[in-house]
Amino acid sequence: MPPPSTPPSAGDTSPPKAPKVVLATRNPHKITELRAILAATGVTIDLIGVNTFPDVPDVPETGVTFAQNALLKAAETARRTGLPSIADDSGLCVDVLGGAPGIFSARWAGKHGDDEANLDLLLAQLADIADRHRKAHFACAAALALPDGPAVVREGRIDGTLLHARRGTNGFGYDPIFLPDGHDRTTAQMPAEEKNAISHRTRAFQALAKDLAELL
Ligand code: IMP
Repeated sequence: MPPPSTPPSAGDTSPPKAPKVVLATRNPHKITELRAILAATGVTIDLIGVNTFPDVPDVPETGVTFAQNALLKAAETARRTGLPSIADDSGLCVDVLGGAPGIFSARWAGKHGDDEANLDLLLAQLADIADRHRKAHFACAAALALPDGPAVVREGRIDGTLLHARRGTNGFGYDPIFLPDGHDRTTAQMPAEEKNAISHRTRAFQALAKDLAELL
């Protein structure tokens, strides 16, 4: 057997190693979802969660747009880990609320990640708003940053209408009241694969896949 330092010979047929990329999240569901989304784009990367690096702290979301927050998280994670990093930031933007909850989507009712309270508050705020004025979209910014500096961000969205009451139990967040345009079921009534096929996150990461292919 050759010593480990021997470079691959011209006749080496073993597949090239997929580049390691860190995803700036500790949420295992997000890692699974993004692995599936990126695999479907044909990009081969070895996506690992930032939890693999216990010393790397969470990056505060101090930006005022989805794009700023995604870039902040990707750039800081790349700097700390020394590896290419990707991050996303997403939320629900309601037309009649001037784009809110927007970057505050996860903590609209006060406590971060309290989906039920967030939904209750939004439904109460929109109680008197007629169907034709209940347009909204989910938005996602997906960023890629390299440890030596270059960074890029891409955005995706899905448009729809907000219902007056919950429908469906799949998904998370505002899914039970979000009816995507051209569909008769909420994103909480769709199986994960069906929602993933049209989601804001998929659209943003499909756009970012071209950058991953070029930059890695
Ligand atoms: P994050 O940036 O992906 O963590 O999303 C922030 C918040 O936006 C979540 O806590 C949800 O309230 C909302 N959100 C983002 N994407 C979705 C989605 O696909 N369905 C429902 N709610 C979402």
